[in-house]
Amino acid sequence: MWTLVVLIVPNVVLDITESTSWLWKIANIIAPAGFYLCVLSWTRKTGVAVLCALPWMIFAAFQLVLSYLFGEAIIAVDMFLNVVTTNVEEVNELLGNLFYAILTVVLLYLPPLIWAIVMTCKKKRLSGSQRNKVMRDGVYVMLVGIIATIAAEFSRSGGRFYRELFPLNVVCNLGEAINRTNQTRHYPETSKDFTYKAVSERPDSLPEIYVMVIGETARAINWQLAGYERPTNPRLSRRSGLTFFPKAISQSNTTHKSVPMMMSCASAETFDSIQYYKSILTAMKEAGFYTRFFSNQAPNHSYTEFFGNEADDIRYADFSRKPHPFDHEMVDWLRQAVADTIHRKQFIVMHTYGSHFLYRDRYPQSESYFSPDNMVDANSGNRPCLINGYDNTIRYTDHVLDGIIGVLDGADVAAGLVYSSDHGEDIFDDRRNRFLHASPNPTYYQLHVASLAWMSDELQSLHPEFVTAIKTNRTKPMAPQTALFHTALQMAGVKSPLFRPESSLVDESYNYGKPLYVTDLNQGVPLEKSGLKDLDFEKLSTLLSK
Ligand SMILES: [Zn+2]
Repeated sequence: MWTLVVLIVPNVVLDITESTSWLWKIANIIAPAGFYLCVLSWTRKTGVAVLCALPWMIFAAFQLVLSYLFGEAIIAVDMFLNVVTTNVEEVNELLGNLFYAILTVVLLYLPPLIWAIVMTCKKKRLSGSQRNKVMRDGVYVMLVGIIATIAAEFSRSGGRFYRELFPLNVVCNLGEAINRTNQTRHYPETSKDFTYKAVSERPDSLPEIYVMVIGETARAINWQLAGYERPTNPRLSRRSGLTFFPKAISQSNTTHKSVPMMMSCASAETFDSIQYYKSILTAMKEAGFYTRFFSNQAPNHSYTEFFGNEADDIRYADFSRKPHPFDHEMVDWLRQAVADTIHRKQFIVMHTYGSHFLYRDRYPQSESYFSPDNMVDANSGNRPCLINGYDNTIRYTDHVLDGIIGVLDGADVAAGLVYSSDHGEDIFDDRRNRFLHASPNPTYYQLHVASLAWMSDELQSLHPEFVTAIKTNRTKPMAPQTALFHTALQMAGVKSPLFRPESSLVDESYNYGKPLYVTDLNQGVPLEKSGLKDLDFEKLSTLLSK
């Protein structure tokens, strides 16, 4: 009985957090309860039966921790993928902050498991009649659950049972996650014949260098360049040739989707086709550029890693070092690259660690400006301290980006940079008390990201029309996932049949219609269908109407 109760706890929690019809809420309790009763009575060995429910207990525990973390939604496909693409260090940092949630699930699920082991050792069995009664009850309850499910499916609110009933919906999501992991594994084959047919329209003798910097968890509202009252961009605010795009809305709230889209011609409308594409590194290589991929994030068998492997020169920071290397190291690598006199045309992608939680660990202590920043416990009471730490990461990113631009500027060649964060972050910003990113449903704070471009004086005089266009396009809505790729190609004078001028911020025809979002099921949908709430739309409409 205790096992049945603890197994059904997540269903009750989901009935409270999800806005489904009451028919679905009833079905979501009765049908799984009937199923669990059948599982728990399939053998007379009562301990063994409870141990057989272990996979369901794992789903239930995982679900409760996520409900605690995000306040809503079932375990998404992306959550499973995040587990395989997030490194151990990040997981440890996060787990420390979920202590009470984890303690609760341990207290819920450990006692029945211990009891089951003891019963198994004692070879305790139910009598035949006891077991038959439980099984019969289970079948009856399940039948009622099935009727409720059918009624819910045919009701006005609609919905499908495999998306509404926990844990069936989570099992389906796990299946989809396995499917996508296989897809990623076969990427080298599915993409092997891909070509951008890219060529440079500039003379071979012209020295040029272009950099795409991929930021991490940098939300625009903490950028001074976006109107934030704190001095988080003391250096970039003074840079000439720089354009900040205040209306950058990310198409994903996860790193593993957002970064590959920025690095390739895949976007929200075509996300699944990413398995056939190569990245901008290949496009630039085809056009005669020497390519480099610098990363301060560990390789994790994602598309980002595959794309990075296309470069001629691949460098990862030394992750065995403690603390985690700081982003400034990559500025030194860039300095070495610029000093390279053999390769006169270069294209470099830099993947930073940016503002990923734990914030305090993303910048050297000497760069701590807002204090105190030493409290890291994730709760709303600590928000001022967390914001100090977060703002320090942005100020440090400002320093790093300014360093990169300084190196490019000093090269005295046609040079350009595009930068965007992959997604934003919740930091206990409103009454929902949300924290972090990559939740099953996004928020405004996870999608409004920092994004900018810079062009050297040499590039500006070579293409004055770029300057005119970027000034006009600056205040238009943009998605880094489409704009970064096409803008970088055009800045570098690279032509390809896959280049879309209407997605390039240095083209006069630039136009990004309605912002899109890639759902957990990889569909590109308008923001109205992304799971954003009224609180988010208020913020977004204020931003987009400016
Ligand atoms: Zn990220």
